[in-house]
Amino acid sequence: MDLATVLLLHKSSFFIGALCFLYVRWQSPSSHGLGILAVAFTLQAVASTFAGLGEKHALQLSVWALSSFSLGTLGYAVFWIGMRRLSGNNNRRSLDWFALAIPAGLIVTALLTGFHLDSIWRASIFQGSSILFLGASAVTLMLDDRHEKLSARYALAAAIAVAVILSVFVVAGLMAPDTAPLHPRDAFFLLILCHFAIALFSLVFVKERVEAMLTTLLDTDALTQIRNRRWFFLTLPAAPLAGDAFIIIDIDHFKRVNDTFGHAAGDIVLASAAREMALNLRHGEIFARLGGEEFGLYLPAASNLDPQDVAERLRNAVQSLKVKVGETFIPVTISAGTAVACAGLPLHELMSRADTALYGAKSRGRNRIEAYRADAPSVLASDPRQNTRPAQTTKAGQAA
Ligand code: GH3
Ligand code: MG
Ligand code: MG
Repeated sequence: MDLATVLLLHKSSFFIGALCFLYVRWQSPSSHGLGILAVAFTLQAVASTFAGLGEKHALQLSVWALSSFSLGTLGYAVFWIGMRRLSGNNNRRSLDWFALAIPAGLIVTALLTGFHLDSIWRASIFQGSSILFLGASAVTLMLDDRHEKLSARYALAAAIAVAVILSVFVVAGLMAPDTAPLHPRDAFFLLILCHFAIALFSLVFVKERVEAMLTTLLDTDALTQIRNRRWFFLTLPAAPLAGDAFIIIDIDHFKRVNDTFGHAAGDIVLASAAREMALNLRHGEIFARLGGEEFGLYLPAASNLDPQDVAERLRNAVQSLKVKVGETFIPVTISAGTAVACAGLPLHELMSRADTALYGAKSRGRNRIEAYRADAPSVLASDPRQNTRPAQTTKAGQAA
């Protein structure tokens, strides 16, 4: 491939990348860094255009060499700033702009010494700044992996890392043409492919992040921030195994909380109780708000957890909770019903049994845990207290 074609492709790869960044920024305005990355690629595209004009002798050397060197090094610094924002998705990195001091220093040095007029010096220092900023971008992406694990992050970091290696080959090819592993022109061509890959993986990265956010929203209860009913029923096994347990938990006298302290205070109590229970569960348990002030907890037999113990732990935790609304501490307690599956028991029957047990806990005074017992006397018949929760009509007993 001749040099003119390579330069045309080089310029095009940056323009297309810049357009992609702008398009996704328009589609997903909450994503940070894309506008800055579009500016970075545009600077590179213009720098590449100046270099192309220089090759055609359409401009004086002093003009095109300085323009392409300045805009290119500036473009790499801006790329790093954009990638830092994209990677961490925050705006707290305002100090990053000081990185522009590096290209500014190089431009001033070029003006003072004229090194940019020598093609080897110009290209080597230019590639050096690319190695610095692209390398820093790849490192940033990998370090931010601690906060947000997305597979496109690794692909993007890898594409940038390959670009760094190719830039090293370009410098090696210029400095020691006889021993360099790759001819600078070939390395340059592969760099073009890397620019496309960087733009592509940046877009996939943004898409993957938005999808992860949407999935979280879809599965999260807006008030309590714990998992919701949809997630719960999607996560449960289709048929319980023998030994699996279901626990239904309900806040006691919650209507009274609303009536006495107001609905907003009720919301705070509900969210506090949910958070407290979630904090007292081991990571990975199937726990969710099923609706209203009712929660479901599913313990697979493999967890080897005793449902009575777990429910008792949650009951104690919620009872010890100090929910302060204004100047008032609102007491909050829960009741729970537990049921353990035997072989072949359908899920709805397991839930219905837990619900029956909960009904027993409510009838026997609340703030207590009851296990389902097939031989238990009918609570409805034995307890004269009002209780309007026939087991089959509660939220847990309904099909998902
Ligand atoms: P029990 O001890 O028998 O469970 O009595 P309870 O008052 O807790 O139960 P009941 O079913 O009579 O009332 C539940 C109340 O929960 C009624 C409803 O207005 C309230 N509630 C349901 N969802 C929310 C919510 O998201 N926020 C608030 N503040 N209240 C809610
Ligand atoms: Mg209740
Ligand atoms: Mg209820």
